[in-house]
Amino acid sequence: MKTIGLIGGMSWESSTQYYRVINEEVKLRLGGLHSAKLLLASVDFEEIEQFQSLGKWEEAGELLAHIAKNLEKAGADFIVICTNTMHKVAPIIEKAIHIPLLHIADATASEIQHMQLNKIGLLGTKYTMEQDFYKERIRQHGIEIAIPCEEARLEVNRIIFEELCLGDIKPSSKDYYLQVIDELIQQGAEGIILGCTEIGLLIKHEDVQVPVFDTTVIHAKNAVTVALD
Ligand code: GLU
Repeated sequence: MKTIGLIGGMSWESSTQYYRVINEEVKLRLGGLHSAKLLLASVDFEEIEQFQSLGKWEEAGELLAHIAKNLEKAGADFIVICTNTMHKVAPIIEKAIHIPLLHIADATASEIQHMQLNKIGLLGTKYTMEQDFYKERIRQHGIEIAIPCEEARLEVNRIIFEELCLGDIKPSSKDYYLQVIDELIQQGAEGIILGCTEIGLLIKHEDVQVPVFDTTVIHAKNAVTVALD
């Protein structure tokens, strides 16, 4: 079994899900007392969020690259960044290490392709919904992307940072997300990417009438596949 190097804490509410899903999946696949070999480096999310809101992506990238290098030195065989948004700096991290980085958008796109869907709705932080680093990576797999209108993007983003990243799960926010999802389905979305690793805490498969792609679960299971390959 390979050793997974997790960069977490963005937020820790979703990193705990990675830890749980990875270990559940190893247990499911290997049985017995098997559990995952992994290293977790967890950051102070307040620092990262400040870099994000100030647009200091280069600095954030250098910080995460330093952590990735340390994980490599400590014996990680590959790197998993436990957030969609910070994949914006994936190229900076990849340049700093000699081990692979398992990209969350590639793992998600291959699940969507597997279900033969052509157009997909994307929910995430404003950075993930509005900028190209994530959407372009999904589009490269021949998948069209729909995002919410500006007002909805702001509210979806607010709920992530002011509630979900603090472990605050509100029924009213769930209703709001379901309304936004309905609008995306009306725009022709055949499935929905939960493109922020905390959204799975709020929205479950059974809440939505089209397939839901929970990036946390997809990425964590993909890490297990690579670790056991
Ligand atoms: N975990 C979130 C994501 O998947 C948001 C936190 C962050 O900005 O990194 O994008």
